Formats: sequence, structure tokens, C-alpha cells
Amino acid sequence: MAKRIGIIGGGIIGVALARALSARGDEVTVLEKEQRLAQHQTGHNSGVVHAGLYYAPGSLKATLCAAGRVALREFCAAKSLPYREVGKLVVAVDESEVPALNEIERRSRENGVPDLSRIDGVARLREIEPHVAGVAAVHSPHTAVVDYATITEAMASDVRAAGGSIRLGHEVTGVRLENGRVRVLAESSEHVFDRLIVCAGLQSDVIARFVGADPSPKILPFRGEYWQLAPERADLVRGMIYPVPDPRFPFLGVHFTRGIYDIVHVGPNAVPALAREGYRWLRVSPKDTWESLRWPGAWPLAKKHWRMGVDEISGSLAKPLYFRKARRFIPELRMPDLQRTETAGVRAQAWGRDGALLDDFAVDQVGPVTLLRNAPSPAATSSLAIADYLIEHHLAPTGAA
Ligand SMILES: Cc1cc2nc3c(=O)[nH]c(=O)nc-3n(C[C@H](O)[C@H](O)[C@H](O)COP(=O)(O)OP(=O)(O)OC[C@H]3O[C@@H](n4cnc5c(N)ncnc54)[C@H](O)[C@@H]3O)c2cc1C
Repeated sequence: MAKRIGIIGGGIIGVALARALSARGDEVTVLEKEQRLAQHQTGHNSGVVHAGLYYAPGSLKATLCAAGRVALREFCAAKSLPYREVGKLVVAVDESEVPALNEIERRSRENGVPDLSRIDGVARLREIEPHVAGVAAVHSPHTAVVDYATITEAMASDVRAAGGSIRLGHEVTGVRLENGRVRVLAESSEHVFDRLIVCAGLQSDVIARFVGADPSPKILPFRGEYWQLAPERADLVRGMIYPVPDPRFPFLGVHFTRGIYDIVHVGPNAVPALAREGYRWLRVSPKDTWESLRWPGAWPLAKKHWRMGVDEISGSLAKPLYFRKARRFIPELRMPDLQRTETAGVRAQAWGRDGALLDDFAVDQVGPVTLLRNAPSPAATSSLAIADYLIEHHLAPTGAA
């Protein structure tokens, strides 16, 4: 017998999951608070299909990114959606960064990143990126770019074609567990489901509280602001140029990405957002900010990362500081080449009581409710594989008890 399954969240993960469930015959309803799909992280990201270079071998990020990349490439091919393998160079600018680059190379090989190569010497680097500076790099030729909002819409068409329902403008305001079932209260409707899956991104901890789940991890919203290269200077970057990331921090540092529409994005940075959906500095929610400040993990986190925080905030407010970081990779870059944009995304980064930022994807189960509690990058890349993982590990097959 088909099950009635509710999904909160019309980002790429909620919709990928709805697609997989409706294909197996479940009666699926997606509840999304916005008037369109993919209005938060999914529609405000770098559009990169990661090949799995950084993630701890054996982690969910490593395994689901590898499977998700292949599945996404096949999906785009089947739907004739743009998918371009522009390739990525992770660059050690000087000798001090080489040991960390070696570790990225080791992880990449263990994660089975396809056709990865090690490049030493600036002359060889410039065969791939003619304007780059550096002493060594790893090159991943199959790292690609896509448009995740368009992909989400294509997945949604499959959901509708299989009889699933996608309700836009339906903000969930309460969830009650009743005799093994779930009653979901939305602004203007009420629904009863056999199972509920929460893929609510920046609001995932709010919904977790509705069902009485552990308040930890909480969501710490981190904004990523984008700059871009002036169109006449976009030829400074062919594909993607990334720094060797700081392993203590879950974000990747200043990088250059030639997106699917041929704009070269620079960024995103990582600054604390003053509201869950704080896409710019002036968008402040006293409630969200106060909740973050009084979280037990606030001081341990501030103590550990304050230098990085000051550095990122300064770069956000003062162009010369950001420019200096970017120019390390491309010495020909001039200040006017770097243009500020209005584009920004807010990352839903899960944060424990002890102040630690959760690294891996994380899922909780409360009775019939499955909560996706941490799905940061590369979760868009991994979306189809995350859907399969949730079904295999958290949702019994149709007909089973
Ligand atoms: C700046 C930035 C750059 C990134 N770059 C990449 C990248 O290049 N590659 C990559 O793989 N990943 C990247 N990511 C990560 C990726 O975008 C996310 O991991 C992914 O989009 C998560 O999808 P989601 O469906 O969980 O969340 P979301 O897309 O945030 O969707 C959650 C949805 O839930 C809805 N919702 C919330 N509360 C309610 C409620 N009460 N009722 C109804 N609906 C609700 C929201 O409106 C939203 O639409 C990036 C993220 C950011 C922010």
C-alpha cells in the first residue's frame, strides 16, 4: 500500500527526495513556504558539481558526493540541461601550502576523484590556467558547473508527472505526532501523513523543535557574498581556481568559478549572517541573532575562530582587503576587474552545543519524522544520492510496516 509522505522544503533535496518516492509509488506532498522552488540555498549557490576532493574518506559527504555527481550528470543529460565540465585547479600559492595540498591529494585519491592529476611548477599550472600563480596544484578535470534552480524545477516536473503534489506558499507552522502519524499545520492548510521528512535548510532546527527533537545541532547562518570579474576580464579564468582550504574551517576560501552562464564569480566569502535569511548586512533579525549569541557553543566557537571571522568581515566591508586575497592567485588582476555583486547565499551550517561546526551530513529520526539536520555543500551535488540514502536508511519500502 502506498504511503502518504510529507516533505517540508522545496529546495533541491526535498524535491529530489519527492521524485524518488513518487517514482516508487508513494503519495507525496512537498510543502514549501516560498512562492517558487529553490529560493534559498539551492538558488543562491556557486553551481559547482563537486568531484569529492576534500571530504574525509568514508564520510557521507565523500560517498554521497561521488554517487551524486554521477547521478546528476546522467539526470542533466536525460533532461538536456546544461552541464559543463570546466575543471578545477586547487592551487598552493607558495611552499608553505604544499603539505596541506598533499593532504588534499591523498584524500582525493582515496575518494576516487576521477582523472585527478598532480601539477608541479608554474609553467605546468599555466597550461591549464594561463594567468594563475602558484608552485603546485591538483587538477580535477570533471568538476562541473550547472544551474541548480533549473535542475530542481526539472525534478519537480517528474514529481508532478508521477502524481505528487508540490504546494508553494505553504509555510509549516506546527507539527504534531498522533498515534504513529504526523499532523502538519501549514499557514492555510492541515495535512496528515504516515511519514514526514524535513529538508528545511536554514529553518531545519526550528522544525526540529516542533517535533521535540534535540535542539542541538542549531543552525548558524553563514552568508557567502559573491564578487565577479568584469566581463572584459573574464578571460583571466578558464575554469575554476581554488585555494588550499584551511582544514579547521568548513568553507573553501576565496575562489574563482566560471559559471554555467560564463560569468566568473569570485567568492563566496563566509561572514556571520544576522538573520537566518540574511542576504545582506542590513537584514537583521534580533531574534535569530540573540538565539545564536546565547547558544552554549557561541563562546567556544568565537574563541576558536575569531581571527578568521575578523578577516572575513573586513574583506566583506573593504574591497582592497578582498582584492589582495584574490590577487594572490592571479597577479594580473587589477582593482577595477573585481566587481561587487548583489548576489549572496546563506549557508545552513549546523553547530553543536560545544561550539563545533558539524562537518558531515547529519540525519535525526523522531518517530515517523526524519530530520535532515546538516546538508551544506556539497549537498546540491549529492542531492540525488542523499535522496537514495534517506530512502534506504530511514524510509521503509512501500508496503512495509
Ligand atoms: C553560498 C553557497 C554556495 C554553495 N555552493 C555549492 C556548490 O557549488 N555546490 C554544491 O553542491 N553545494 C553548494 N552549496 C550548498 C547547497 O546549496 C546546499 O547544500 C543545498 O542547496 C541544500 O539544499 P536543501 O534543499 O537542503 O536546502 P534549501 O535549498 O535551503 O531548501 C530548503 C527549503 O525549505 C523551505 N522551508 C524552510 N522552512 C519552511 C517551512 N517552515 N515551511 C515550508 N518550507 C520551509 C525553504 O523556503 C527552502 O526552500 C552552497 C551553498 C551556499 C549558501
